[in-house]
Order: sequence, then C-alpha cells, then structure tokens
Amino acid sequence: MQITEIYKSLQGESSYTGLPCIFVRLTACNLRCSWCDSEYTFTGGKKMTAEHVEAEVQRLSAANCKLVEITGGEPMLQEREVVPLMQSLVGSGFEVLLETSGERPLDKVPAEVVKIVDVKCPHSGAANSFRESNLKTLHPRDEIKFVLSDRTDYEFARDFVRRHDLSKQVANIILSPAFQKDASGRGSTAQCLIDPKELTQWMLEDGLQARLGIQIHKFIWDPSLKGV
Ligand code: SF4
Repeated sequence: MQITEIYKSLQGESSYTGLPCIFVRLTACNLRCSWCDSEYTFTGGKKMTAEHVEAEVQRLSAANCKLVEITGGEPMLQEREVVPLMQSLVGSGFEVLLETSGERPLDKVPAEVVKIVDVKCPHSGAANSFRESNLKTLHPRDEIKFVLSDRTDYEFARDFVRRHDLSKQVANIILSPAFQKDASGRGSTAQCLIDPKELTQWMLEDGLQARLGIQIHKFIWDPSLKGV
C-alpha cells in the first residue's frame, strides 16, 4: 500500500484526545476539503507491504503504546490492503481507530475497529460526499465528527444528527471548529474559523447531545508542523 508517514504522537482529536497513539497515514484522497491540513498526502508516499507497516507499528509501540490510528488522505481508497492490515493489528492486540470521510463503503471494516467518520459539511467544499448507506455499518463505539467553519455548517451538522437520531447509534458525536488552513506560529482559538465559545453557545441553546472537539495538536505544536 502507499504510505505517507508512520509516527507516534498524541491523539489530537476524537474522544481519544490526549492519548499516545501511533499514526499510519496513507497516501491519496478523492476529496479536496477547503480547510484540509493534509494536502501533502495527496501524492507521493512510499510503497510498503502490510507486514512492513505492522513491523514499524510494533517498533514504535515498544514503549507500550497500543493505540493505532489509520488515517490519510482517505485510507479506504486502499481498502484491499488496509482491511487486512487492520485485522492483523487487532489480532496483535492493538486498539485500532480508522479516520475516514465515509465517502467509500465501510462495510468491510472489522467490527473491532473504531470508525471515526468525518461527515463533510457544506463549506468544506465536499458537501454530500458522505455515503448514507454507511450509517448501517455504525457500531456504538464509533464516532461521528463534523468540522465546522460557520453557522451554516453547524446547522447542517445539527440537522444531520437529529434526522438520523445519531445519539442513539454512536457514543460520540463531535463538533469541531475548522482551523485556518495555513495557520502557523502559536496555535490559538483566534485561528479557528468559528469561535469555540460561539459554537458552545449554539450547542447549549439547541440541547445537542454532542461533544465540542478542539484539535489539541494545533495548540501543542506549531499548526503548520507535519508528523506531530
Ligand atoms: S478528506 Fe481529509 S485528507 Fe481528504 S481533502 Fe478532506 S480533510 Fe483532506
């Protein structure tokens, strides 16, 4: 499979935020989100077999890190190779997270893998890319995430959650302010496209059963850094 990078860091998003995690970042994406911070994954990378990827994960896990996130790009573009890799990692005792847009079918993802599905909102530029049949593949431990850049995106997310009764299907629904695309320097909430305070107020007003998600890695390290 085509791999952009494999590294260990802290999990910056999802309900696993703050935990040590090994990231396997696959190359290529079929979407072009306006606020994407992973454009360097669109091309390049290097070919690695699933065995080589797992060996590198095992090496990085030597300090007892058993959490792995498969991400990209869009990892499910390489379904044929990535599904056996996830199966093998689960079999080796890792807790495996899959970060995906939900545009590709998710029915082959092993049940033990926690899917973190990033449903694209209108101002991502990839609106309507989510494959609704994937809702049937959700397990209670899976997570649905919406990255928001304005009130229209918020209302889309809120209505999507209500229409599909998502809080009955998954434990965590995460609303996350999009970060300025080329932000650098010291990360601050001023670089979020929606003020988290304003988003919090909307969530409370609407009584939305969702969690506010802040990308903590953008605050720990320079937001322009890769591989952290
Ligand atoms: S799906 Fe992810 S990697 Fe692909 S363009 Fe959107 S944010 Fe970037």
